[in-house]
Amino acid sequence: MRETTPNTPADLFVIGGGINGCGIARDAAGRGASVVLAEMGDLASATSSASTKLFHGGLRYLEYLEVRLVHEALVEREVLLRAMPHISWPMRFVLPYHKDMRFESETPISKMLGLAMPWMKGRRPAWLIRMGLFMYDHLGGRKILPGTATLSLKGTPEGAPLQERFERAYEYSDCWVEDSRLVVLNARDAEARGATIMTRTKVTHAQRDGALWRIATEDAETGAKATHYAKMLINAGGPWVGDVIHDKIDLPSREGVRLVRGSHIVTRKLYDHDKCYFFQGTDGRIIFAIPYERDFTLIGTTDAEHDDPDRRPVCTPEEQAYLINFANQYFAQSISAEDVVWTYSGVRPLYDDGASSATAATRDYTLKVDATGGAPVLNVFGGKITTYRRLAESALEKIGEHIALKSGPWTAGVAMPGGDFPVDGFDVLVQTLSGKYPFLGEVWARRLVRAYGTEAETLLGEAKSAEDLGRGFGATLTEAEAIWLMRQEFARTAEDVVWRRTKLGLRLSAEEISALDGWMRSRRERADAAE
Ligand SMILES: Cc1cc2nc3c(=O)[nH]c(=O)nc-3n(C[C@H](O)[C@H](O)[C@H](O)COP(=O)(O)OP(=O)(O)OC[C@H]3O[C@@H](n4cnc5c(N)ncnc54)[C@H](O)[C@@H]3O)c2cc1C
Repeated sequence: MRETTPNTPADLFVIGGGINGCGIARDAAGRGASVVLAEMGDLASATSSASTKLFHGGLRYLEYLEVRLVHEALVEREVLLRAMPHISWPMRFVLPYHKDMRFESETPISKMLGLAMPWMKGRRPAWLIRMGLFMYDHLGGRKILPGTATLSLKGTPEGAPLQERFERAYEYSDCWVEDSRLVVLNARDAEARGATIMTRTKVTHAQRDGALWRIATEDAETGAKATHYAKMLINAGGPWVGDVIHDKIDLPSREGVRLVRGSHIVTRKLYDHDKCYFFQGTDGRIIFAIPYERDFTLIGTTDAEHDDPDRRPVCTPEEQAYLINFANQYFAQSISAEDVVWTYSGVRPLYDDGASSATAATRDYTLKVDATGGAPVLNVFGGKITTYRRLAESALEKIGEHIALKSGPWTAGVAMPGGDFPVDGFDVLVQTLSGKYPFLGEVWARRLVRAYGTEAETLLGEAKSAEDLGRGFGATLTEAEAIWLMRQEFARTAEDVVWRRTKLGLRLSAEEISALDGWMRSRRERADAAE
């Protein structure tokens, strides 16, 4: 851990270990800046583990004419895919077409169409979808991802799970990403490049002290207090960005954040192919149904105002019913609340652009520097997982006006930990791993390569059998993997392991999770006592 003093301050102190804080920390550390990052919970414990997990351009944002955001995100998909082919992969999205599909009435395109073609009465016509998909195909300079296609739903695997009234569909590409693993890999890489990453460390107060920031932190587990010094403060507090501005650093800022909750439900697998569905509702909104963790289907999301970042977001019964009803307008076999095996919710920290509805509020990011009272602070609003690397580059441009950086942008084209293999090399890596460790079998080997990529071999070491990996906690989670997650990936509790480093919480029983937690606690206590 790097100690900072008024004479040896860090260049940057980052508040927030979500994707934006960790992305900025990694980029800055790679440019030679000294960086300290504090996260009050676990890495990705807030919004960055609760997304729909897509690297996507955001087809629906075209209706809001967010062309800059869509263009940047579309280009970024392939940059990210190449850098992390273990935790990210291409997906095809099937968009069934029906004449009843409607616009959100607030979109600029729907307003324009309403004026020019009033008889359409808020309907989203097929030609408009084709036009949107044409733009989607051509705005982003695709090289890896296949383009748009039209598809018959009659007698095809894609049509099989859907109601008969859906006869045709469009199909396009986007990518999946394991969101919370992406955050952890950024934190690891930042640390490898010299950053100090402190989890379970809350920033309670920060104030300017001449040209420096003096930052007070509190250890969430022990209550221990500490003081840090830095030349620049980065507020990447996500849903708490406003709380940090107003309550932790008392900045007289008028910038606002709009908190919009989004919830997902997870059911047992609803269909057999590996494509996703993009469903349009009669209320103008859209939801996705996505193959999830091999045996499940992920359905989301909602848009609901959320008043307080400290109120833990949960999927309300109303949101769950909304998602079930929405999906039931499409699937032939209805689902009900009994089919839901898990739900999760997150809060989008959107820049308050004064939009009338939560759905309409911009998903683009806004970076604001305040240097009026001495040492500078950069406040981060909004953004997508998809644009985190570009957001970090833009942040570094602003940081560079205040802090001397040794080099320029570098993150495009540099692999994330474990991602140093070809973008189409996943299956080969699985075969190589199963060849070297035959006791794993296909399913276990695939899971490890998805999580750890080329580092899976380092984790497994000289093991010749499952017993060599130590205690088994269930669902192929072993002591060796748990130790890796504690040593290399900042995991402290079973929740960190089963809901963020992995999604084995979907397969482990409450007793198994509790046994893992007990084992991790005693290992932590032994490690603390040895220090
Ligand atoms: C339902 C939903 C679906 C989404 N789907 C997608 C998608 O498919 N694709 C996509 O690209 N984007 C998606 N997004 C957007 C994306 O998830 C967010 O933009 C992104 O995760 C925000 O990251 P962040 O780092 O700004 O915030 P967070 O991940 O919330 O991180 C902020 C962190 O700051 C910490 N913090 C706050 N205050 C303090 C303090 N005082 N001291 C220490 N730490 C502090 C918090 O604990 C938190 O971990 C989705 C968002 C939601 C909600």
